[in-house]
Amino acid sequence: MDTFVLIGGGLAGAKAAETLRAEGFDGRVVLIGEEPEAPYERPPLSKGYLLGSDEREKARVHEPGWYEAHDVDLRTGTRAVGLDATARRVELDTGEWLSYDRLLLATGSSARRLPVPGADLEGVRYLRALPDADGLLAEFRKGGRRVVVVGGGWIGLEASAAARTHGNDVTVVEPQPTPLYGVLGPAMGEVFGRLHREHGVDLRTGTGVEAFVGSGTVSGVRTDTGEEIPADVVLVGVGAVPNTGLAEDAGLRVDRGIVTDAALRASAPDVFAAGDVASAFHPLYARHVRVEHWANALNQGPAAARSMLGQDVSYDRVPYFFTDQYDLGMEYSGLGGPGDSVVCRGNPDDGEFIAFWLDGGRVTAGMNVNVWDVTDPIQALVRSNRPVDAVRLADPDVPLESLA
Ligand SMILES: Cc1cc2nc3c(=O)[nH]c(=O)nc-3n(C[C@H](O)[C@H](O)[C@H](O)COP(=O)(O)OP(=O)(O)OC[C@H]3O[C@@H](n4cnc5c(N)ncnc54)[C@H](O)[C@@H]3O)c2cc1C
Repeated sequence: MDTFVLIGGGLAGAKAAETLRAEGFDGRVVLIGEEPEAPYERPPLSKGYLLGSDEREKARVHEPGWYEAHDVDLRTGTRAVGLDATARRVELDTGEWLSYDRLLLATGSSARRLPVPGADLEGVRYLRALPDADGLLAEFRKGGRRVVVVGGGWIGLEASAAARTHGNDVTVVEPQPTPLYGVLGPAMGEVFGRLHREHGVDLRTGTGVEAFVGSGTVSGVRTDTGEEIPADVVLVGVGAVPNTGLAEDAGLRVDRGIVTDAALRASAPDVFAAGDVASAFHPLYARHVRVEHWANALNQGPAAARSMLGQDVSYDRVPYFFTDQYDLGMEYSGLGGPGDSVVCRGNPDDGEFIAFWLDGGRVTAGMNVNVWDVTDPIQALVRSNRPVDAVRLADPDVPLESLA
C-alpha cells in the first residue's frame, strides 16, 4: 500500500488530503501539522473572527470527524524536523521516521519578525495562527485600548478595522507613503489610506519604527521621527516568510520558496510543494511565482494531490485574493507591476469601482472594489495578454467580456 505524506496542516495540506480521497486514492494518507489545531483557514483570523461576528470553529477546513471518516491520519502538534529525499523518509519531532512514496511540502509561511530593540518585550504581537487571533480578540473586545499597528499591509489594515469596530483607538505606523504601496501603488494605496482615516485611524505614513519600549511588557512604539506612541496593544504586520527550512536542509532547490515545475513537482523525486511555500513555474507568466494567498492554497493543494496521483497537471490559475475592511469588500486578480499604469472604471471616491493595471496596454491585474461578479471577465482580460483600449476599459457601458 502506498503512503502519501503531507507536511503542513494548513489549507493546502488539508485540501490535498481531501482531493486524494476524492480521486479514489486508497493508500495511506498522513497529514503532519505542527499546530495543535485541526486545519483551519486564516482569513477569518483578521476578519469575521477578529470582529467577533464569526465563531472560532467556523474557520475549520473540515467538519469535526472528517479526518477519521476519510481515513486520513492527522497528526496535530507534530513537527517534521528532517527530510531524507534519497531514502524517502521524514523525521518527526516524536523521533519517528515516516517512509513515503510521495511527499507534499505545504509548510506555508510565518509572520516576519521586526528586528528592532524591544522586539522581545512581552505583548509585541503578530497575527498568523488562531491563538494569536484569540489573544487579539480578547484585547480588542475590552474597547478603549490604545492599539498601535506596525505595518499598513493587508493584515495590519484588516486588524485595524477590527480594532476600530470594537471601539479602540488605533494608530498605524507605515514607512511607505501610503498603505499597501508595494502591492497597489500610490493612487490605490491611498484609497485604503483614506478609508482608514475616515474611520478614525491615526495613519502615520512615511514613518518607520525604531524600537518597542517598555519594561518587561511593551508600552509604546518609538518611531524614526523620535516620537513615542503609547500603546496598550502592539501588533506587527510586516509580511510573511516562507517556511522553506526543511526543504533547504534536504538539499531541494529553494529560491524564495520551494521551486517546482508547473505540475508542482519539487527538485527531488516524488516530492511536491503547494501553497504559500511553493514557488511554482507559472505557464501564463513563463516564470516562477509564489502566491501568499488563500485561493492559491485552496487550489494548489488539490492540484498537487492530482499530480501526486500521476495525473497531468499544469497549474496556471490567475493569482487572486480578497479583503474586507469596514464596508469595503475587494477582490484582486493578476499581478500588477510597480511600473504599470492604472485605469479606473468608476470613481474611487464613490467607493465602487474597478481599477486595472496595464503594462504596454495589456491588463496585468484588476481590482474590483464593492463591485461584484466581475472576477471571471477580469481574469479573462489578464489571461488574454492582448492590448486593450484604455478608454473602453474605463467606460462602464462597454462590457468587460467584449474586451478580452
Ligand atoms: C491573519 C491572516 C489573514 C489572511 N487573510 C487573507 C485574505 O483575506 N485573503 C487571502 O487571499 N489570503 C489571506 N491570508 C493568506 C492565506 O491565509 C494563506 O495564503 C494561506 O493560509 C496559505 O495556506 P498554506 O496551507 O499554504 O500555509 P499555512 O496556512 O501557513 O499552513 C502551513 C501549516 O504548516 C505548518 N508547518 C510548517 N512547517 C511544518 C513542519 N516542519 N512540520 C509540520 N507542520 C509544519 C504550519 O504550522 C501551518 O500550520 C491571510 C493570512 C493570515 C495570516
